[in-house]
Parts: sequence; structure tokens; C-alpha cells
Amino acid sequence: MNKFQLRDYQSDAVQATLSHFRKTDESAVIVLPTGAGKSLVIAELARLAKRKILVLAHVKELVEQNHDKYLSYGLKAGIYSAGLKQKQSQLQVTFASVQSVARNLQDFATEHSLIIVDECHRVSDEENSQYQQIFAQLKAYNPQLKILGLTATPYRMGIGWVYRYHYRGFCRADSDRPFQHCIYELPLQYMISKGFLTPPTMVDAPVAQYDFSALNANTTGNYPEKEVNQLLVSHPRVTEAICQQVIQLADSRKGVMVFASTVKHAEEILGYLPTAHSALITGATPLQERDALIAAFKRQEVKFLINVAVLTTGFDAPHVDFIAILRPTQSVSLFQQIVGRGLRLAEEKKDCLVMDYAGNGFNIFYPEVGQPKPDSSSVPVQVFCPVCEFANIFWGKTDDEGNILEHFGRRCQGTEENTKGSVTQCDYRFRFKECPQCNAENDIAARHCHQCQHAIIDPDDQLKAALKLKDALVIRCAGISMTESENKLKVTYHDEHGEELSERFDIANPKQLNRFNQLFGRRFAQNSQPVQFKTLTEILSMSQLFCAPDFVIARKSGHHWRIQERIFDYQGNHRKANQL
Ligand SMILES: [Zn+2]
Ligand SMILES: [Zn+2]
Repeated sequence: MNKFQLRDYQSDAVQATLSHFRKTDESAVIVLPTGAGKSLVIAELARLAKRKILVLAHVKELVEQNHDKYLSYGLKAGIYSAGLKQKQSQLQVTFASVQSVARNLQDFATEHSLIIVDECHRVSDEENSQYQQIFAQLKAYNPQLKILGLTATPYRMGIGWVYRYHYRGFCRADSDRPFQHCIYELPLQYMISKGFLTPPTMVDAPVAQYDFSALNANTTGNYPEKEVNQLLVSHPRVTEAICQQVIQLADSRKGVMVFASTVKHAEEILGYLPTAHSALITGATPLQERDALIAAFKRQEVKFLINVAVLTTGFDAPHVDFIAILRPTQSVSLFQQIVGRGLRLAEEKKDCLVMDYAGNGFNIFYPEVGQPKPDSSSVPVQVFCPVCEFANIFWGKTDDEGNILEHFGRRCQGTEENTKGSVTQCDYRFRFKECPQCNAENDIAARHCHQCQHAIIDPDDQLKAALKLKDALVIRCAGISMTESENKLKVTYHDEHGEELSERFDIANPKQLNRFNQLFGRRFAQNSQPVQFKTLTEILSMSQLFCAPDFVIARKSGHHWRIQERIFDYQGNHRKANQL
């Protein structure tokens, strides 16, 4: 009956699923790159299941694809999808579209043992989402229902990681996610080096490039359409020059996918490309027309297929050998999804040309960092946790030799499993705010202490309050210096214009030493190596490596200024020193 020989990693993924669900009912995700044969893994899991299972996908093409793969095993399964004009839910295995099931929950009022969700990065936490409605319905008939997701990119802008814990011993999020565990992951690099995917060729020589760096993404990681249009309109020649290069480079290519920023932008691009061989698909393209255009593209009657945010996942045209990116993106995952459209194997295809005209500056092999890229010069850097030694990946800056100059990580992502098998996240924070009540370390954006619930004042409110007072002084701190003064340590805070404030720590006094260590020793060397200092000499010999706060607030006390607050790792509306 087992007609297909699974590749090693496919059977590893199947084994990981079986052993996970033997241990627990908690939901799980498998990460396999596009082209790794997810449908075969799904077919094998469905074949092994003894009780009823439901396989969900968000588009009819995927429902059909997964169903076909299962049938090729010589097995029988139902299809439940309005788009495919079939509504069977009686058989042991059902391949279904999410929309159709969510609209007809009454047809799924029986016990199922497993739900498999394809392209599971689309699942959201929201109770009213179609996915959650389906999960709730089936859980009502079986509280032990198992939920497994599959995706190539377990990440979505605006939501972030779709799972919380990774099987290699780290976590992706501090709070619950749509899925609990990632139980298997295969890197893209593996697929390419083993010859299962076509290697991408990234040429860094665009004739012209958009500069989207001035735009700010909204909370869902998208750029406001109006602003993008405005930026594009102000550079009319750029689009024309890019299109000319695309045509020229496409000479030796068979299928070109162009990713545009907005509908207006896409229409402009369409105007510059050869009319007879170009087509445009947007979210508003009627379904029938869309199917016809895609079919013409696959038959290679259309050579240039332009789209606006619609063909990133679930679209499969193996002959694509040129990807032109003319849209900004903040996420490595989205970038990889786009490039992934051109990595399928096809006859006579040796590589896939990738041109990034939007200056996104991502590498296809970059790991996803999980935060939007802070600015164009940031790269993923590896930062070891001083407590659990986990190798974190954060955005950061490096010098020409690759040495880390700074990183933007906040909390260690390492995890620990206790003897009872439950997993907790490492407590170490690279950046933190102290609770004024209990001194516990909190995230720099926290409003309440995670330990005692005491309110933590927003640094902007702190600055605002201080700036209102006549007897308070606030300096934007550009640097600190440490010197000896009457056997004590003198810390001087300098602002950009030469103004300064200072305070003294009596290092021989255990209480004051402790305070110094909490403020400065804990943040030693870019928050990466906390040190407990013991002597004044020791501190002075390493004075260059202490972190400066971003703002210092002092109050008048007699004829002196007494330091009241040092704000480290400031994030807010005020400009920091030496920042434009
Ligand atoms: Zn750690
Ligand atoms: Zn507290």
C-alpha cells in the first residue's frame, strides 16, 4: 500500500509527530521549506491515523493537491470544499477548505482524533477566526483532539511566531501562540544543498533601487499604501529603469514573477513590460480570470506575472526562474516566501535569479529574527546568554570583521525543561527596567512588574514630569566617565554640549557597592556579561566598558544636584544623544 518512499527528513517529520502526540495533546508545528513535499508528509500521517481526521487548507488548490497525493497511495478520502463543488465528510479522512468547514460546522459534529492544518502560519489566536471555530467545534466532541500545523514560514508580520517553544530548547515568545510547540524543522539550505530545490542567484547590481527606508511600517508590519504610492510617484524614472533591466535580464529566462508594492504601482509596471506577454493579478482580480491568467503563465504563454501580495504562498509554477522584488518587506520570512516561488525544480532550470529592487537587504539564508529589522544596517547576530549559554539570534550591528558592536535583544530565548517535563523560558534579560518596589527585572516596555504587579512608570512620563519641575535637571546622556574622588568612585554623566552631572559611590560600603553593581555591573559590556565588581581599582581599570544611561534626571538639593533617576535602554518619543 505504501507506494511512495518517503525521503529521510519526511519520515523524521512523521516520527516526530507520532512521538510528540504520544506524550501530549498540546498543539504542534512542523516547518518544511516549500518544495519539501509537505503533501506527502500529510498523506503518510493520514494513512497512519486510525480514527477520523480532518486536513484543512485555505485555498482549493491546496485541498486538491493534498487530496490527490493521498489518493495516489491507493486510499480513499473525502473532499469538503465549496470551491471544488464537493461536500463529503463521512469518510475517515477528509480534505477540506477552511471557509467551507467553518460555514457548515454541523457537518462536523462527530469525533475526530486529529486536525492537520496546511499553511498554518495563517492561523490566528482570535476566538472568532474560522480556524478557532473549527478547533472549538471538534474539541467539543473530543477534548483530546490533536492539532498539527505545517508551514514553510512559521512567522507572520503583526503576529510574530505562530508557535511558542522550539524542540531545540528555546522559545520564540513570552506568551501563548496559536501553536505550542515546533517539533520538527528543516532548513532551506539543506534542501538546496541536497539538490531538492534550485539554488537562488542573488545579483546585487540593480540599475536602480527604491529607497523605502524613510517609511514606517504599521503594527501589522505593512506600509501604508498612500505613503508608498507617494514615494513611488516622486521617483517616476526609477520604475521605468527597473522594468527595462527586468526585460533585459529576462531574455535568458522562462518565467518572471514581479512583486509590486501597490495596485497603482503594479499597473505602472504592467505599462512598461511587453503587453502581449505580461499579466497582473491583485486581490481584486475575479477568481475565474485569476485562474485563467495563472494557467496561461504555467503554459508559458505569459512570461511576466506581476502580483500585489497575492501569490506568496500556495502558488506553484516550477518553471519560474526569475524573481523581481519591487516591494518593501520587514520580515525575513516574507522575503523567503517570495524567493521560494522560484526554487522549485524544473527541467533545464539551473538557478533562479533574484533581484531585490526594494533594497530589503535580506539574505535568503538568514534566520528569522522575530522582530522587524530596526534599520538598513542591522544584521542577525548570535548572542550567547551568560546564564544558560543559549545562542540567541537578535538584530544587531557588526564591524567589517563581523564583530558585534551592539545588539537589540531583550530577553534570552533559551528554555529549560524541569523534571516534570514542563518547559520554562530562561529569566535572563539583556535589557531591563527595574521594578521600583521589589527590584525585579522587567521588560523595557512593561507597565506592571511581572513579580509584584506594582506599576512601572513609563520613562516618557518620568521625563515629562521632570521637565515640568523648576528644581529638576534632565540631561541627554552621551557618555559617562569614571574617576576616583576622595577614595570614592565618581561617575560623571556628560550630555552632548558639555553639561554634566555626577554622583559618588563608596565602593567600600557593601550597600553602595551593591547598588553600583545593580546599575552598572549588571549592564557591563553592552548588557552581555554581567559582572559583580568588588574593588574601586577593578572598576577604574575597566571604566571604558560600562554602559551609559540615555537620560539622567537630577533634583536640586541645597547647592547641589542629586541624581534621582538614570534611564537605561530608553525607548520612546524623545531623541537620544547623538541621534538625529
Ligand atoms: Zn538564557
Ligand atoms: Zn516588583
